Amino acid sequence: MKQISQLKFSREFSITDTNSIVREGDQKFITDDLYIIRSIHRKRDYSHYNADSPSDIRYIDKPVFKLLSVKCDSDRAAQVRPQICIMSWDDDYIYSLKRDTLRLYGPKDNSNYPNSNAMFDMLYYLIKPLKLRHANGNLVRGFKNHLITRLNGFGADSMHCLTIIDELRKEVENKQSDMFETSTLDDMRAYVYNNGQLEQCPITKVIKPRSHLEWGNISGIRCYRDRTLNMEDYGYTMENHCWLKENEILIDGTCYDSRTVNVIRCDGCNAKCVEEETRDGECVECIGRDYRIHNYSHRVEETLGFDKHSKLPSEPYMGIELEYQADKPKGGRLYTGDKLKGHALMKDDGSIRNGFEIVTRPAGYWTHVNKLSSFLDDLPEHIHPHQSCGMHVHISRTAFTFLGAGKFTEFFNRPSNKKFVQLIAGRGETQYQKADATWDLKIPYNQAIKDYSYNRYNFVNVSNRKTLELRIFATPANKMEFMIRMQFVKAMVEYCKPAQLSVPLKEQTHYESFCNWLDNTRNNSYEILNNFIKESTICA
Ligand SMILES: [Zn+2]
Repeated sequence: MKQISQLKFSREFSITDTNSIVREGDQKFITDDLYIIRSIHRKRDYSHYNADSPSDIRYIDKPVFKLLSVKCDSDRAAQVRPQICIMSWDDDYIYSLKRDTLRLYGPKDNSNYPNSNAMFDMLYYLIKPLKLRHANGNLVRGFKNHLITRLNGFGADSMHCLTIIDELRKEVENKQSDMFETSTLDDMRAYVYNNGQLEQCPITKVIKPRSHLEWGNISGIRCYRDRTLNMEDYGYTMENHCWLKENEILIDGTCYDSRTVNVIRCDGCNAKCVEEETRDGECVECIGRDYRIHNYSHRVEETLGFDKHSKLPSEPYMGIELEYQADKPKGGRLYTGDKLKGHALMKDDGSIRNGFEIVTRPAGYWTHVNKLSSFLDDLPEHIHPHQSCGMHVHISRTAFTFLGAGKFTEFFNRPSNKKFVQLIAGRGETQYQKADATWDLKIPYNQAIKDYSYNRYNFVNVSNRKTLELRIFATPANKMEFMIRMQFVKAMVEYCKPAQLSVPLKEQTHYESFCNWLDNTRNNSYEILNNFIKESTICA
C-alpha cells in the first residue's frame, strides 16, 4: 500500500522490458474501460541542425506506454476526430498527460488536480490490486504509517487513497463503543493523528481528504462536499454562491425555511431579520449586553459581579467556561442570552468558527447547576459541542489547603487515573489540556509560595492566583453529561478537603480510593455521578 512514484513504477514496469505490462501489439485492460498499449512518441531531435537546409528536421522515436479509454476512442471516432491517449510515458518522462480527458474518462476518485506521481500510484494499483488485510481480517502491518505518509505525500491525490480511507472507516466503526458517542470522522482523524485534513461531506457522509472535496456553502453552512455530486439531484440550486433548497432563504449568512419564518425589519437598525429572532422588535445586534459576543479579554466578573446571595459562606466560588459551536449564530446568541441573562456572558472564541464561549460569573455550585441545567434542558440542535470544544471549571483556592490542592493536582496527572479521568471527562488529552506524569502533590505549593511557573495547559491550571482551573472536560451536549461532570467537581473538592484519611497519601490520589469514598458518602448530591461510575466497566 506504499505510494508509488514514477521512479518506483518504472523499476517494476520498465518500457525496456518487452514483457512488462503489455506486449507490442496487445492491449492490457486495467479497468473495464482503460487500457495500456506500447507505442511510439515522436520527438523533435534538437541536436540535429543543418545550416544549409533549415527545413531538414529530424525526429527521435521513443518507445512509450500509452493509457487509453475505449469510451474516449469511440466518442472521438463518432466525431471523426483522431484517437488520443490520456497519458504517455517511459521510465523517465511523461510525454503527455491530458487531465481533462482523465477527469472525463478516467476513475472518478482521483483528487481535483492529481500530481503526476499520483498517476503512477493510480496505474500501479490498478495493475496490482491493493492488499489491505491479512486472511484473518487484520489490517496489514504498517497500515497506519503508510496511510499517514500517503496522506502527506503525492499519494493523497490517487484514487487508491480513498480505498484505504474506506478501509480505515470500517476499522474505526467496528471499534466504536456504546459508551461514548463519538463521530466516525473524529475517530478517523484521531487514528491518523490529524494528518491529511479529513473532512466529511454533509450530504453523502463520505469521508475524504480535502483535496478530493469541494469547498462550498450549503444551506448557509460552509463545508466540504463530495465534488462528484450533482447538487440538483438533491434539490439544490445555486444562489449567491450558496446551494439552497427551494424553500430556503439566506439572511446575513444564516439559512431559514421561508415557510416557517416571518421576515421583518429591526426597529433599531432597520436590518432585515426574522421575527422570532427579535425581542420587542429589535434584532440581536440591538438588544444589548446579554446577547453580544464580548471580546476575549472581557472580564465577566467586572460586568456581572459575584453572585453573593445564593451561596453558603462555606461554599467555594466557581466559574465555568463552556465552548459551543452555533450553526445559526444569531439564533444561538438569542437562546443563550435568554437563558443565561445575568449569570453568564458570551465571549469570542477564536478556536471555533461560528462559536462562542459562555463564561459565567463566580457563583456557588447550586446556582450553576440551576442556570446551566435550564440552558441545557432545551438546547436546540444548532448549538452543539464541537470536537475541539471544552468545559473548564475554575474553583476558588479558598476551597483547598495546600495539601488538598496538591492531591487534586496529582489526581488528574497520575497515569494510573488516565482512563478514569477520561471516562468522567468525556474525552482524553488535547493540545490545550494534558496530563503530566511528573506533576505531584507539591505543585500548587511551589507555585504559590516559591513562585515557580507551570504550564497552564495542564489538566489542572495552577497559574491563576485565585483559582485552580480544571480543564479535563469535553463540553456537555446535554444535562446528564453536565450533571455528571459538575457532581464530580463538587465531590473532588469535598474529597480533597480532609487532611487525615485512614489511607496513605499515595493511595488517596488513586481513583479507586475516590470511588470507595464516593460510594460510602451518603450524600445524594453525588447520585448521578456514582451511578454513572458503577455502570461503567472501570470499577468492575
Ligand atoms: Zn437592529
